[in-house]
Amino acid sequence: MAIPSARETDYERIVRIAGAGLGENPLGMTGAKAQQQDKREQDLRKKVLIKSYGCQMNAYDATRMADLLAGQGYDETEAVDQADLVVLNTCHIREKAAEKVYSELGRLRVLKRERAEAGLETTIAVAGCVAQAEGAEILNRSPAVDLVVGPQSYHRLPGLLAEAAAHRRPVDTEFPVDDKFGALPQPAARRIRARGHSAFVTVQEGCDKFCSFCVVPYTRGAETSRPPEEILQEIRHLSEAGVREITLLGQNVNAYHGEARDGRLWSLARLLEGAAAIDGVARLRYTTSHPRDMGDDLIAAHRDLPQLMPYLHLPVQSGSDAMLAAMNRKHDRALYLRLIDKVRAACPGIALSSDFIVGFPGESDADFDDTMRLVEQVGFAAAFSFKYSRRPGTPAATLATQVEDGVATARLHALQALILDQQTAFNRATIGRTLDVLVEKPGRHPGQVTGKSPYLQPVHFDASAALVGDIVAVRIEGQIANSLSGRLTGHGTASHASGSRPPAMALASGGRP
Ligand code: SF4
Repeated sequence: MAIPSARETDYERIVRIAGAGLGENPLGMTGAKAQQQDKREQDLRKKVLIKSYGCQMNAYDATRMADLLAGQGYDETEAVDQADLVVLNTCHIREKAAEKVYSELGRLRVLKRERAEAGLETTIAVAGCVAQAEGAEILNRSPAVDLVVGPQSYHRLPGLLAEAAAHRRPVDTEFPVDDKFGALPQPAARRIRARGHSAFVTVQEGCDKFCSFCVVPYTRGAETSRPPEEILQEIRHLSEAGVREITLLGQNVNAYHGEARDGRLWSLARLLEGAAAIDGVARLRYTTSHPRDMGDDLIAAHRDLPQLMPYLHLPVQSGSDAMLAAMNRKHDRALYLRLIDKVRAACPGIALSSDFIVGFPGESDADFDDTMRLVEQVGFAAAFSFKYSRRPGTPAATLATQVEDGVATARLHALQALILDQQTAFNRATIGRTLDVLVEKPGRHPGQVTGKSPYLQPVHFDASAALVGDIVAVRIEGQIANSLSGRLTGHGTASHASGSRPPAMALASGGRP
């Protein structure tokens, strides 16, 4: 989109957009003029573009930043050339993450110059895990950047923006002791509704596990848990605005140990129980978990809480004990398989998902076979798998036993083919059954809507868009790639108030579709 060519002040720009002359008298306005005035006031607000990369926790942080900045006079835009403030909410998990951020900053530098030539100021902020890892180095390498803020400090954005406006180029990558989430404003109901009927709530941050391939303990710091009352208040607020499904987030979410006002520590299971008691909360999920923190009370919650969806993402990373030890995973294959048995005993038919790394340094053919055998033994409904890639600063990055890339690629293809077979089989097993579906949005075709099953499968079916936000019963009739198609048969069993267990809980005997 073209950038206004003349140098103009913010006020002049508003007038140009509103199509009014500078000499217009604002007093004694008619209805049309009042509308013009509203538009002017809206145009006076600045525009922010938050570009978020990576995990769901980053996505959640991006919404909290947007809510915070809304109170500072910023409306969101998707047009980068219209943004007075650009926030790159970065992720450090992918290979060459920092280099990709610097390339993006190079493009933003050009845009900033073009906007400056048009008389428009642009503030560029780098947030997220690359900001944490690189800190002031970002300012050295990217002169266009005005401020750097780590994932634990973004509640301080208003002050940092004021410093940036004074050309002080602040860097805040501390792990402050103040309660970041407590300092952030609750969004207005209309903002929540605009984001749909599912919401993330971060309950825990950081990680103490120090897996040898992972940067999280360095970028997000030690494990910290939010107080349970504060989390439940946020969930209540979301539910009152119409959110039906809440996913509790944490880098190591089942290590949650929030301290309540009475000084007692709450486990994740207790927190889920508290969330399930909130009126209107029909569905609960949590991610991402570590096998070592999969306590009996959390497993029992899968049996006892109707709102807790029958889906568990439990990363194992490898099926080889030698690799698990080299990864410093603090669990072995036997412990993982024991957990799976317990989870399936508590919640038959639960959909299981996991993460895998292939080609970890030192991985032999026999180690990889162990991974394939574990996948065959468990039977997953979905899984994420990646080739190992070095993360600077992590212990595994310096190991001399790196696996040749062609070997790792072949292993990845074999693993992904097996997982795809299992996912397809799981989805196929739902055909002919009736599942509760949370209707999320109108579908791609007229008269169609799309939603999510309890197992996180996208489901498409013909129905009115007025059902968006409802939980309805859908008879599954077909499978298209990873999605399901079906026919609306009535209201779901997980009603707004009761959230009772969906009929599909008895999906598969023996835990596998
Ligand atoms: S448990 Fe997860 S977040 Fe923590 S170090 Fe290991 S991989 Fe990283």
